Amino acid sequence: MGYLLRLVILLILGWLAYRLVRRLVADESPRPSGKQARIEIVPCAKCGVHIPREEALMHNGKAYCSAAHMEEDTK
Ligand SMILES: [Zn+2]
Repeated sequence: MGYLLRLVILLILGWLAYRLVRRLVADESPRPSGKQARIEIVPCAKCGVHIPREEALMHNGKAYCSAAHMEEDTK
């Protein structure tokens, strides 16, 4: 009974470790060349707050954090 229990615990631990390693490998490897590396942070031309370029409002080659700041700066 004791031997069987230890065997089962060992198998469960091994399975958990295998799953953990697989998850870590799957999470880490695509990231450096993936989407996150391409995100460019730009400062708002009005208040200087840093925002991802894809969320920024672009006007005349300048980035703005909001429509209000874009309007204020282009008045
Ligand atoms: Zn701003």
